[in-house]
Amino acid sequence: MKTVDDFDFLGKKVLVRVDFNVPLDKEYHITDDKRIRAAIPTIRKILNDGGSAILMSHHGRPKSGPEEKFSLKHVVKHLMLLLNVTVYFANDCIGEEAEKKSSALKNGEVLLLENLRFHKEEEKGDEAFAKKLAQLGDFYINDGFGTAHRAHASTAVIAKFFPGRKCFGYLMAAEIENAERVMRYAEKPLTAIMGGAKVSDKILVIDSLLERVNHLIIGGGMAFTFVKAKGGNIGRSLVEADKLDLALKIMDDAKKKNVQLHLPTDAVIADAFSNEAQSAVAPVEKITEGWMGLDIGPESIKSFSEVVINSKTILWNGPMGVFEMEKFATGTKAVAKAVADATAKGAYSLIGGGDSAAAVVQFGYENKVSYVSTGGGALLEYFEGKILPGIKAIMD
Ligand code: AMP
Repeated sequence: MKTVDDFDFLGKKVLVRVDFNVPLDKEYHITDDKRIRAAIPTIRKILNDGGSAILMSHHGRPKSGPEEKFSLKHVVKHLMLLLNVTVYFANDCIGEEAEKKSSALKNGEVLLLENLRFHKEEEKGDEAFAKKLAQLGDFYINDGFGTAHRAHASTAVIAKFFPGRKCFGYLMAAEIENAERVMRYAEKPLTAIMGGAKVSDKILVIDSLLERVNHLIIGGGMAFTFVKAKGGNIGRSLVEADKLDLALKIMDDAKKKNVQLHLPTDAVIADAFSNEAQSAVAPVEKITEGWMGLDIGPESIKSFSEVVINSKTILWNGPMGVFEMEKFATGTKAVAKAVADATAKGAYSLIGGGDSAAAVVQFGYENKVSYVSTGGGALLEYFEGKILPGIKAIMD
């Protein structure tokens, strides 16, 4: 695996695909800069070597063409603060202005290009568009793990224009190393904790995990599809009625593969989907008509925590309940604590992006787990066993 450490960037104009898809408030202030901070070491390495960096990223999901709220100009000032160098900005990622500004760029300087997705060719993986981007630099680095599962122009197609002049950035390399540590080199017992809303979103990853894990813990809304499949009364809890057979098959496969599957035994139930709802604790298979399970209950917290604390490797993706509401955050918080405790005892823990990453940060465990991935969808696809296009393009 070639990384930035294998190259000297002196005098090079280095095109870096970063993931600056950061949340902004109504005044366009960045509310979480984790993704920008994650790209800083790679940019610094280029500048310290005596090269210059041309950064390209997407931001949000613009429908057709430029939209103010998706402009990357809103991140320039903050990037400048983090890097402590002047950052130039091109109002379009291709075309005359981008060409002029990139050719005028001096060693030690940084140019940020406008949102790649203002051109529909980006997501289509258009080769002519990729070529135009490629012409701006003489070396290509992919350091955006969050989009590594997309075969877009800037994440995959562009790499073909840089034979022998492409590599992974530090963030990508770290993401791959951490994922591999669970995927291939896990110390056993290996426990996967899956949560979130839907089984259908996680079915491929569950199938793949059943080949590797010793324990599979299932919490969150998706657990109710399993409980219902087993004949439980789940009231108005989240369910995918067309996935009951699938849930039965997963339970059966787990048995065949000697994987211990752990489902919640109790739930915090509520009479409405609201933090102000009336709530109670009930056995998961006996939820009162009209009520819904919005978190795992105390008995489940205890049994899940016990499995986690006795694990040597832990992968966690998806919350145990509706953690955005204080009243239903207890289960997710407790699992975060159990993962942190296991880590303190010597286990290795990987937190998959998205909501579980948000939860460990929110509950103050960010520095008490081994690694928090910046990729949600990308990490899931990695664990499905797919070769991600953004990774393959660098390896080819
Ligand atoms: P996902 O994107 O599939 O990981 O799902 C995350 C979402 O699942 C979060 O917004 C949670 O609020 C939601 N969630 C977790 N548990 C439940 C539940 N028991 N009922 C409804 N939604 C849930």
